[in-house]
Amino acid sequence: MMQKEKLYGKTLNELIAVTKRIGLPGFAARQLADWLYKKEIQTIEEMTNLSKRTRELLSVDYEIGLTAPVNTTESNDGTKKYLYKVLNDKYIETAYIPDDERATICVSSQAGCKMGCVFCMTGKQGFQGNLSSNEILNQFRSLPEFSTLTNMVYMGMGEPLDNITEVLKSLDILTSEWGYAWSPTRITVSTVGLIAGIKEFLEKSRCHLAVSLHSPFDEERKKLMPIQRTNTVAEVLDVIRNFEMNSQRRVSFEYILFKGMNDTPRHIKELARILNGIKCRINIIRFHQIPGSEFQSPDLTATNNFKEALNAKGILTTIRASRGVDIQAACGLLSTLKMNKPE
Ligand code: SF4
Repeated sequence: MMQKEKLYGKTLNELIAVTKRIGLPGFAARQLADWLYKKEIQTIEEMTNLSKRTRELLSVDYEIGLTAPVNTTESNDGTKKYLYKVLNDKYIETAYIPDDERATICVSSQAGCKMGCVFCMTGKQGFQGNLSSNEILNQFRSLPEFSTLTNMVYMGMGEPLDNITEVLKSLDILTSEWGYAWSPTRITVSTVGLIAGIKEFLEKSRCHLAVSLHSPFDEERKKLMPIQRTNTVAEVLDVIRNFEMNSQRRVSFEYILFKGMNDTPRHIKELARILNGIKCRINIIRFHQIPGSEFQSPDLTATNNFKEALNAKGILTTIRASRGVDIQAACGLLSTLKMNKPE
């Protein structure tokens, strides 16, 4: 049987094309967007302001296309990890992170990843495919805590800017008035530093950008993140420096702290030098030990000292609270375990 096309995850322009294809008036696309993104329906049958005939016509080739997660793990601190099935036979992870008045969802943008960062389990899986805008947004819409969400980060499996077309579509749906109408300041997209992708993302979206830095030194960063070979820190910073950011928009640099490796005074000095003149912040993340890794987690005092030293240099620096450590919330771990264990 032919698989039906999924309506959920289509932009307004794509919905207009759908209505044209089956001979509906243009305004029907807005009605569809309304049902898909403002009302919580699961089937075309529930679109009750469309005639029965229209719903039947739509159902021939289309379906809504929502799928529930297949597994959940909950941490002592309330963080949850959901596993979704995508691309027919792959698995991706989505994290739900409640925190006082905030509730953040961390979505995946690819199954596996091409970037090969040495500290990451997803990198070790290799690349298995790009998620469609449907599969990206389904993580959000089919999350049991969907209605409580206040923030969204693209920091799960995959490199979002390596799947920029589908990521931009999902952002369009999240932030457009015909979609979820979320403020772009509630959404952050992370990247290892793909220069062309950063340029396109800065131009076509108004969401926050988070660049994984992890070291200010080329040689060292190259060892951690192979992407550094073709996209150097200096080039990435140039793109950001030369882009006129509106005052609402935030650029942050993620910095995973590895004990005795990238936490020295030399690193602090160089970070202050290269980030000079860029309105930004640094988010320090304490490394979570992963199986088979040579890297070690720094202790809390060392982490704090590193943060204070950067703040003293005038760079706004915060430590990201480690969440979900007991359920292996490090990127890519859960789906790797699942893949290693046949059902
Ligand atoms: S850290 Fe992110 S970009 Fe790097 S390999 Fe893992 S998923 Fe890919």
